[in-house]
Amino acid sequence: MSFPIDHDLHCHTQLSLCSNDPAQTPQSILAFAKAHAYTVQCITDHLWDSLVPGPNGFYSTQNIEHVNRNLPLPKDEQVRMVFGCETEYCGGGKLGLDPSNYGVFDFIVIPPNHYHMSGLVHSEGYDTEEKRAGLLVERLEELTRMELPWHKVGIAHMTCSLIFTQGDQYKVYELVDEGRFRAVMRAFARLGAGIELNLSSFAPAWHEHEDAMLRLYRLAGEEGCKFYLASDAHHPAELSVIPERAPEVIEKLGLTKEDQFILS
Ligand SMILES: [Zn+2]
Ligand SMILES: [Zn+2]
Repeated sequence: MSFPIDHDLHCHTQLSLCSNDPAQTPQSILAFAKAHAYTVQCITDHLWDSLVPGPNGFYSTQNIEHVNRNLPLPKDEQVRMVFGCETEYCGGGKLGLDPSNYGVFDFIVIPPNHYHMSGLVHSEGYDTEEKRAGLLVERLEELTRMELPWHKVGIAHMTCSLIFTQGDQYKVYELVDEGRFRAVMRAFARLGAGIELNLSSFAPAWHEHEDAMLRLYRLAGEEGCKFYLASDAHHPAELSVIPERAPEVIEKLGLTKEDQFILS
């Protein structure tokens, strides 16, 4: 059976400062999900837990109290609305969500490569594609050693322009060490984490860099990882990246229903 295009597990509402769009509400997101026959829609606003010291300016007000303003999420018979978050991983085992609050969320999206926030994620000095590729693997390796509620953890956008805004993101993906990356993906497969296919990151220019863009996902699939779809939408028009772009990405990766990460 083909990989179902019936879910979106990473999506922002107006509560994320980088959205701040009054039209981007749980209700409008649900309406899109319904219209496209989704069965699951997750809301994942940016989050830094007040229990964790040291947020930067961007995260300082985006705490649990803030994202809780979306609750209760609208209920629907067809679409399961899930309350999640996109927190931050800073390296050295530091996550923007305290373990005592893992239970607040039904899905926790962890980005390993928000390297544009250099002070917070400690990416300064990693000034070449090769160093960024090494940093990505190192951060993923660190994550596999953490005690996380893996059945409800998603590894966000391994491909994302934020990995190296001053350089060539595609070259970064090509330079990721295959042996170390395969070992990390084997660990994620064993732990039961989901690997995100972030359709926002598959902007039209990706066609000029297909092998580089698909490389990490191909390796992840070969190591037994499960995948989920994500719009990472911050505005209503961006929700359509899933129906528009997912079919081609899924086909090129050769994914089937067996490869789907199921959020229980
Ligand atoms: Zn992100
Ligand atoms: Zn996001």
